[in-house]
Amino acid sequence: MSSSTSPQESVRRQNLGALLRYIHVRGATSRAELTSRLGLNRSTIGALTADLATAGLVDEGVPHETGRAGRPSIVVRPRSSRVYGYALSLELDRLRAARVGLGGKVLDGRTAERPPGPDPAPTIAALAGFVADMQRTAPTDAVLVGSGLAVSTSVRHHLGWADETIESELAHGLAALRPRLGPSAGPFLGGIADLAALAEHTRGAATGADNVIYLHGDAGISAGIIAGGRRITGYGGHGGEVGHMVVNPSGRLCGCGSRGCWETEIGERALLHLAGRPVPTPGAAVTAAVHAARSGDPDASAAVAHAADWLGFGVANLVNIFNPTVVVFGGTLRELYLTGADHVHNRLFTMALPACRAHVALHTPQLGDDAPLVGAAELAFESLLSDPLFAGRP
Ligand SMILES: [Zn+2]
Repeated sequence: MSSSTSPQESVRRQNLGALLRYIHVRGATSRAELTSRLGLNRSTIGALTADLATAGLVDEGVPHETGRAGRPSIVVRPRSSRVYGYALSLELDRLRAARVGLGGKVLDGRTAERPPGPDPAPTIAALAGFVADMQRTAPTDAVLVGSGLAVSTSVRHHLGWADETIESELAHGLAALRPRLGPSAGPFLGGIADLAALAEHTRGAATGADNVIYLHGDAGISAGIIAGGRRITGYGGHGGEVGHMVVNPSGRLCGCGSRGCWETEIGERALLHLAGRPVPTPGAAVTAAVHAARSGDPDASAAVAHAADWLGFGVANLVNIFNPTVVVFGGTLRELYLTGADHVHNRLFTMALPACRAHVALHTPQLGDDAPLVGAAELAFESLLSDPLFAGRP
């Protein structure tokens, strides 16, 4: 924002951002609700929505039948099919991409196995290929506002790829989009659990909660932490590495060099090892092992009981430290929690402080497997939502 911006103009831009953000998060909203929720008068709301409508970001119309008498308040909706971002997810064994409309609506998607090998180039090329493919079928008058990428911490640890490398390679891979994007349009990177936490906090199982922990399981375990309504990512974005919290000093060696890390007790390799199952495609194998446990397979049942017990052990510690009101179990931990919930609750009941455990609810992701992608899209939209009409777009 330039220093010559008048105070009135500055307030208008803030109000435009607040209004568009409200619509983006809540979906179609009546002008009457906007007036009361944003604390602005009716004529101001009318002027702001007119500006956003002229810019093609929202549209206005009569609501669906409410059954109530009287003239209905005009409803403002995000133009999800016209305004969109790209959301990407880089996991150890698979790549995903989605075109996500304003309002968090997934419009198109692609998924594939991650190309094998230690070189990031084929992976980045595959992600860029997904985007190019979806771009071809996007409406020609639609507006691209940014891109975000969720990176599994397992990629950082097992492949040793630095975020900076991934970020610059991806920016290069998406260079063809550059003419359509402004300078502040990304790609922006975030941890997979961190972005899934953001998504569930914004529009999923943790909506309205200001203290949230999202636990993501794949080859490793990571946490997305929201405390006091703010994402806690640490100095270099590596906060939330709860998988390397030492819970069992006499446990197994961890890939990080330490011993008895949480992920050596509840990670997918640990679970499959205990269940006596090979590890060809871990994600699917974990689901199969958990299903076998539900059907009474004794080895699988013992493995699930062991891992769920340790899951509760770590969750109790996190609940004591962060006092969240919502804990969400995503990735492979979703299946583990659903099958071993009794073990998790037992540990929580015996280990967490009463004041901390009394207010915590345990959930699976309301956005399901899409949570990391929807969170990556939030990064893509951030610049637009901060300053809707002047967000550095060309
Ligand atoms: Zn470790």
